Amino acid sequence: MRNVDLHCHSNISDGVLAPAAVAARAHANGVDLWALTDHDELDGIAPARAAAAGLGLAFVPGVEISVTWANETVHIVGLQIDETDPQLAKGLKDTRSGRERRAREMAAQLDRVGIPGAFDGALKFVGNPDLIGRTHFARYLIELGVCDNVAAVFKSYLVEGKPGFVPHRWATLSQAVDWIRGAGGVAVVAHPGRYRFAKLAYDEFFNTFKDLGGTAIEVMTGSHTVDQYAEYAKVAKRYGFAASRGSDFHSPGESRIDLGALPACPAGLVPVWRDW
Ligand code: AMP
Ligand code: MN
Ligand code: MN
Ligand code: MN
Repeated sequence: MRNVDLHCHSNISDGVLAPAAVAARAHANGVDLWALTDHDELDGIAPARAAAAGLGLAFVPGVEISVTWANETVHIVGLQIDETDPQLAKGLKDTRSGRERRAREMAAQLDRVGIPGAFDGALKFVGNPDLIGRTHFARYLIELGVCDNVAAVFKSYLVEGKPGFVPHRWATLSQAVDWIRGAGGVAVVAHPGRYRFAKLAYDEFFNTFKDLGGTAIEVMTGSHTVDQYAEYAKVAKRYGFAASRGSDFHSPGESRIDLGALPACPAGLVPVWRDW
């Protein structure tokens, strides 16, 4: 069976390793079809592709787009995108544009609860100043000793109702799917089990995504529990979505699931990578 990993991050967004180092780790872990899917940014694709070619590792160009749907943040992965597509590049540039202002407001809130200097602190962990995000703040809070690990940070900070949370409007679902499809790619719902509306507006969300031209969901992701592997295998079958598999690896010290380390997809699903 192929070991496919179609979701992970480099230091071009909120991962820790450079794109070539992510490629090397994927290859060392036995991955044989690999996508880099940085948040809202395409700059890692060229170095990732070159590194993968040097290793004989089959490469899929990807991206993970931040979306606001029903006042919730949702992530849509695009796979097999043409990273030179101008509409995709412009859409992602606009999607990134509010991040610095948001980060300054996050830092101001943290300052009010006795954690000064968080903007500059987070910036030390940023590989790409356009992409400052909550993971970089989490790393700073860990460095300060405020929390022990990333999961603990996201329990007490940076989420709704806690210090350091700043609501943000990302792309719309329709824009994200259009940009991906316009660039020749396949749109995939990332880690569907993570969204709060998964119980409430389940049907509405998946039907809307499908009507817009979305064709796949992540069944196997580092964000899902074992029960959710089975739950989203059923969702894929019910809505006729292909299934994707991706660790969502960010960093050797942080990520629960390493590159290539997920179990296989449950039987009876159409893999999104079937013809790749
Ligand atoms: P942002 O795009 O700045 O809102 O940051 C979102 C990123 O924060 C995600 O891509 C994850 O890397 C990280 N993140 C969000 N929630 C959690 C969580 N509960 N545990 C660990 N990382 C999280
Ligand atoms: Mn991330
Ligand atoms: Mn995500
Ligand atoms: Mn991700």
